[in-house]
Amino acid sequence: MPEVKLVNVTKRYGRIVANDHINLTIKDKEYVSVIGPSGCGKTTLIKNIAGIIEPDEGEIYIGGRLVNKVPIEDREIGYVFQNIALFPHMTVWDNITYGPKVKGYPPEETESLAREMIEMIKVAARADAYPDELSGGTQQKTAVARALMTRSKLLLLDEPLGALDLKVRAALRYELRRIVKDLGLTALHVTHDQEEAMSISDRVVVMRRGRIVESGKPLELYMRPKNIFTANFVGEANFLEGKLDRVTNEGSIVDIGSGLKIMTRDKGMKIGDRVVAAFRPEFAILGKIEGGNTLSGNITDIVYSGSLVRIYVELPNESRIVIKKALRFGEPLPRIGEKVTVSISPENILMYPYPERGLRRELSLE
Ligand code: ADP
Ligand code: MG
Repeated sequence: MPEVKLVNVTKRYGRIVANDHINLTIKDKEYVSVIGPSGCGKTTLIKNIAGIIEPDEGEIYIGGRLVNKVPIEDREIGYVFQNIALFPHMTVWDNITYGPKVKGYPPEETESLAREMIEMIKVAARADAYPDELSGGTQQKTAVARALMTRSKLLLLDEPLGALDLKVRAALRYELRRIVKDLGLTALHVTHDQEEAMSISDRVVVMRRGRIVESGKPLELYMRPKNIFTANFVGEANFLEGKLDRVTNEGSIVDIGSGLKIMTRDKGMKIGDRVVAAFRPEFAILGKIEGGNTLSGNITDIVYSGSLVRIYVELPNESRIVIKKALRFGEPLPRIGEKVTVSISPENILMYPYPERGLRRELSLE
């Protein structure tokens, strides 16, 4: 029952606080992803749990046992490192069975487990191949199999798909999750790819500058981010600065300047407070909807990306919003320069207090 619990875990490198009072519990059999900008402390977090480094402060418990002083080999952890690191001069089979052999585990047991793992990762036909004969995806699956040979019920994955092509990444996501769920493992998966995190895990933890910003189920985090940084980091969002104008039974009305007002269902701020209204580009549509907020403006840009199109609209208050829609065959799209009306339903507008440090700094990825 490898529940992992971190209490006030702090790790400093000189003046950098790489992990700053981290409190986190990963439940038994839970698949948790940690996302955050580069340098926010994700790898440090994994190294703390694995025992590669020791925190300066705080306690780490695995399965209820305090492990701060327990060396890595006694923590019973499967660890997949940030960069593919198979032994190049060894076959898949030898890579997978190396650890147990070194530890002197009974050979029959090791072999049967290795066969099971190879079956699990579906590289059976290639057990005698060398890493450079394998695709990146298969190499990475082999690294997962090797980590699982520790018989550990706790799997730590540090950007396990980071070095792979987009399509391979997407396919391997589902395989990773399947393996973890089939074997009843507890997994902590670090990634800078929010889409990967959303699609693979039971819960997503957002980190920034050594701290946890918030955590939640993928859809919750996407639909109702509690923190404005999360709203920006997970998915895309439009942010409109304004002042709280009025509060009614239906919600709050925000004055965003130049006579423009938008209503949100969110409440909890005082009249006159500086606030930021936020909405996702795909929750806004061109045209009018009943009960929706309408904003009119001119199209400044149209950007295609595969099946989606982003339409940029400049509002009379000089802010620019983007709306995102799926391309549909035969459907005419508006043109640059055209005046359009954009509608957003009040349910889809979130309201945040204006950040003390300013909006731009609050959203920055550093
Ligand atoms: P992430 O994995 O989220 O990109 P890391 O945990 O690797 O972030 O790093 C967090 C911060 O700690 C960064 O500022 C990084 O430069 C610093 N850091 C990490 N490891 C070391 C180290 N061994 N020595 C000095 N600074 C380090
Ligand atoms: Mg890292």
